[in-house]
Amino acid sequence: MKQQILESCQKWGADLVGFAPIARFPECSAVHKLMPEAKTVIGLGFRVLRGAYRGIEEGSTYYQYTTMGVENMEETVMPMVSLRLSMLLEEEGYLALPQRRHQQIMAQENSTNPEVAFDAIYRNRPQETQMDFNEAAVLCGLGEIGFHGALLTEEFGPFVRTCFVLTDAEIEPTPVKTPHLCDGCRECVKGCPGKAIAEDGTLDPWQCAVYYNGANGLKNPFMPPDAFADFENRLAIISGEAKVDPETARKILKNIYFYPPAQHAYPCSICGRACDVRCYIHLEEKGALTKHFRTPFRKREEWKFKIEDFES
Ligand code: SF4
Ligand code: SF4
Repeated sequence: MKQQILESCQKWGADLVGFAPIARFPECSAVHKLMPEAKTVIGLGFRVLRGAYRGIEEGSTYYQYTTMGVENMEETVMPMVSLRLSMLLEEEGYLALPQRRHQQIMAQENSTNPEVAFDAIYRNRPQETQMDFNEAAVLCGLGEIGFHGALLTEEFGPFVRTCFVLTDAEIEPTPVKTPHLCDGCRECVKGCPGKAIAEDGTLDPWQCAVYYNGANGLKNPFMPPDAFADFENRLAIISGEAKVDPETARKILKNIYFYPPAQHAYPCSICGRACDVRCYIHLEEKGALTKHFRTPFRKREEWKFKIEDFES
């Protein structure tokens, strides 16, 4: 059964597959409520194309990361594999319940998900409506959690997305990885164009949403010179120095339209997940990743516009 799952998922396009017995999950974990009879959680990891990040790295193409690295992965590729795996399990007489991240549901009352338009999010949902995807990925042996909260895998570093299948089949577990990738270098913190990651690694989701959407003009080739004209601190916003609260963030986000959004409420990422990119470059440079490429990710010095270009 395990071998059949591994071979099938690989054939369908999953890059990583891991198995966690339900006993590995703490009592408070949502997986127990989602499927009380579950015995195993199957984790599926999918690489996000390095080429999709490279477009933003070079400033040459932006929407491919959002459409091919986020939207199509979450809405098409990953659900398809988890559905096929679930069908395989049910064909064998077991129950199967696929778990994809619902991008528009948040447990916290006043938080947000940078990958989704803030006004399309349903907040204050009970914790048990959605499992903790990073916790599940670690318990399934797919990787470890880095300093800034992203899943890091040996193969693709942070360039990876996950979904899961809960089943009442008992399957031999995958060992949990001993964390060894994150060395605390803080490149992820330094890489964010909006200072959304604090020195202790905590992410401010509203600050992230503003700068994920391109509020830093020094890293945004689509921003006009008179951007944010109605904001007193427009130069602080544009240089990535502004500290925003949720209310200000909403106001800024309403004034952001640099690129057409993808479907399913996914706005175009202008930062290109610079935190993950910096982490990836660091892990690649120190030879920590097992998937190698013929050329390094970063090929030249990072480009930046000048704040003077926005002074009027
Ligand atoms: S950039 Fe450095 S500190 Fe941040 S997650 Fe990666 S390895 Fe850890
Ligand atoms: S680099 Fe982008 S995704 Fe990462 S924390 Fe900053 S704004 Fe958010």
